[in-house]
Amino acid sequence: RRWGFGLYGEMRSTAARDPDRVAVVDEDRQLTYTELDLRVRRLANALRAEHGVRAGDRIGLLCNNSAGMVEAMLALIALGAQAVLVNTGLGDGQLEAVAHDQSLALLIHDDDLLGMLAAVPPNLPRLAMSKTAGLIHRAPSAELEPPAAAGSVVVLTSGTTGAPKGARRRNPSGLGPLASVVSRIPLYAGERIFVAAPLFHTWGLAALQLCLALRGTIVIARRFTPQSTVAAVGATGCTSLFAVPVMLQRLLEAPAPMPTLRVVATSGSALTGPLASRFMEVYGPVLYNLYGSTEASWASIATPDELRDAPGTAGRPPRGTRVAILSDSGTELPTGVIGRIFVGNDMLFEGYTNGTGRESHGDLLATGDLGHLNADGLLFVDGREDDMVISGGENVYPGSVEDVIAELPQVREVAVAGVPDEEFGQRLAAWIALHDGEYVDPEAVREYVRHRLARFSVPRDVYFVAALPRNATGKVVRRRLFGD
Ligand code: ATP
Repeated sequence: RRWGFGLYGEMRSTAARDPDRVAVVDEDRQLTYTELDLRVRRLANALRAEHGVRAGDRIGLLCNNSAGMVEAMLALIALGAQAVLVNTGLGDGQLEAVAHDQSLALLIHDDDLLGMLAAVPPNLPRLAMSKTAGLIHRAPSAELEPPAAAGSVVVLTSGTTGAPKGARRRNPSGLGPLASVVSRIPLYAGERIFVAAPLFHTWGLAALQLCLALRGTIVIARRFTPQSTVAAVGATGCTSLFAVPVMLQRLLEAPAPMPTLRVVATSGSALTGPLASRFMEVYGPVLYNLYGSTEASWASIATPDELRDAPGTAGRPPRGTRVAILSDSGTELPTGVIGRIFVGNDMLFEGYTNGTGRESHGDLLATGDLGHLNADGLLFVDGREDDMVISGGENVYPGSVEDVIAELPQVREVAVAGVPDEEFGQRLAAWIALHDGEYVDPEAVREYVRHRLARFSVPRDVYFVAALPRNATGKVVRRRLFGD
């Protein structure tokens, strides 16, 4: 293939082989592979002629999910540029740090995100997404020459713990990443995937990559709502749904059948055992839990059978991937013992775009998470290393306490964190959002935990909140629990 593998090459080869197949559907339009190919080519020609985009340039994309975002990403890759995907939920300081660290030459942005641009240096050229339609309309559809440098997509970490970092990953040639996922998830050629997760995050982007590699159709919603998801899945007959756990939670609030779905894949943050069980009670054995990160790509995948037998598990590494639980000194820990999660695969991280790296052990990369394996070799993620609480000298893993509190039927969502304590160094606090119209006594929460976990895991402080503070990828932002 002239364009090799990768997003643009996959799209072109399907356009040649199966021109009338629908490639992308959003709220406004539906494009076949031929139409998408033509629009991408015109946009690439226009970006080069009218905005001076060249191979090697770094172009920011600050957009919510849309067909236009897919077109822009593909056009930049076709030109050999780097499409830097910018999270639309960033705070001003984080956005400023991204614009600076990523040395952007141009920022393509959604029109309704104009308000965020105050945080971007005024001398950075901008292009509003609404203008790309006009560019596509006027530009020539001349064939593009393969660029001097290979184009790519730069995915940033979520910025859960600070400024988002650009991760460079080795780009495996061939269908390795696809083969690795389908070794654990039944995704087939022509798959129709509804992506509810944001495309700027590694998880949403994975949905697009898999879809193009499978010559499938990607169905995109600008913003997630349970109602629009059910409607779009029904209207387009989607066979799989890629979401983050908080979206599954919301789909359970007013369950409506989605009989065409064979696969509901979740990633990005922890899937609690109770949520996994409730979801499969309502929607059947369709749930897959992928654990991974921007740096390590996917590290493990749990199937519906595994989630039924061990709710909340992150499963096993897919083909070509290895997971190890290591002690602080780097030795492998026995079953059941919580340690540091390391991962090895051929999609591995090559460093951050700012030149820094990340700890590794041989060819294994530190994920920054803690976890353990059960007797069947299934992985459980116990939380981030940074979130571990030390209370009275005992290690407490907030995730395990959250899992227990989440079992209470009144609880919609819960986060547990450490707060400073004069006597114990840190003590546990729980923030709980209840289902509408429900009430639970704080002492009943403590009592429930006391019966199931060690004494030091019982949260001393219990706060009731309307909803947990989350970022655009649905992750709980713990520092905002404290009102920062
Ligand atoms: P930053 O590095 O900027 O603080 P981040 O680590 O949140 O942001 P991502 O790469 O988006 O950036 O997130 C990866 C992390 O998300 C993992 O290290 C893990 O903590 C969590 N995670 C992802 N999937 C799962 C899962 N299935 N179960 C539990 N945790 C998960």
